[in-house]
Amino acid sequence: MAKIGFIGLGNMGGGMARNMLKAGHILKVFDLNDQVVADICEKGATAASSAVDAATDVDAVVTMLPADKHVKSVYLGDEGLIAAATTGTLLMDCSTIDVDSAREVVAAATDAGMSMVDAPVSGGVAAAAAGSLTFMVGGTENAFAAAEPYLEHMGANIIHAGKAGSGQAAKICNNMMLGIQMISVSEAFILAEKLGLEAEKLFAISSKASGQCWSLTSYCPVPGPVATSPANNDYKAGFAAAMMLKDLRLAQEAATSAGANTPLGKMSRDLYEKFTDMSADDMDFSGIINMLRNR
Ligand code: NAD
Repeated sequence: MAKIGFIGLGNMGGGMARNMLKAGHILKVFDLNDQVVADICEKGATAASSAVDAATDVDAVVTMLPADKHVKSVYLGDEGLIAAATTGTLLMDCSTIDVDSAREVVAAATDAGMSMVDAPVSGGVAAAAAGSLTFMVGGTENAFAAAEPYLEHMGANIIHAGKAGSGQAAKICNNMMLGIQMISVSEAFILAEKLGLEAEKLFAISSKASGQCWSLTSYCPVPGPVATSPANNDYKAGFAAAMMLKDLRLAQEAATSAGANTPLGKMSRDLYEKFTDMSADDMDFSGIINMLRNR
């Protein structure tokens, strides 16, 4: 049983923190949203007064924050948790952020005598709640070995991607595939509608044929075939379209600086930009089918 500081208890972090409690760990939690803190405290966690407080006198810290600016503000500088945490505390950032920011934070942690991994996840809110996430971990062999037993309580697959920042590199590549695939699955269902082919039939066939992918079988963008997909819940996120756009932008920034040719990644980013401009903040990324249908 370890003492863990858990910071960021939103759609993903809330489920992940619950699984840490179920595994018997002692949790000190912090989030700017008091309601999500109250919810997890009902399950046995203790509320911290700040991110620094959550990271003080604990064995390990997990962060699950929206974007790089939140991660940097929580970890770095005189007011950040690296300055306040005890030397030797293991730091695990599970947020999705850009590779350079991840490396900057890990370098600051290393300078302060702490092990840190970037450990972004794939799998969505249902997998976060079920403890079946895939973790893509960047960091030294020693940091990975220290983080793995903790991450196993929250995930089914824990993969060491390479040095610091490699977890984020893997995540950006994976989510570029996801964004492109959600658009391709959506276009196929729209075409099927026009051709008089029932959605349930297309799903039954393509889920057993070469069009099979996660966007189809776990997150189908039309209501019906997958009971847990946001399409059956008014496209309420789930994985918010704004988060998808964030990842597609990160992928394009990385592609530009690395000189990689990713034309479909670029087109997906442009379509998600248009979609987020016209939709509510809590719109799931699979809702893009409605924008594509109405063009
Ligand atoms: P979310 O917005 O639901 O949760 C983020 C939480 O962080 C919120 O509760 C917010 O109040 C809190 N927060 C923001 N700034 C803070 C600060 N300075 N101190 C403390 N708390 C702060 O987001 P989410 O969907 O849980 O996603 C979190 C991360 O996981 C993102 O980086 C996202 O890209 C990634 N991710 C999300 C999904 C998904 O399906 N939602 C899947 C894989 C990865």
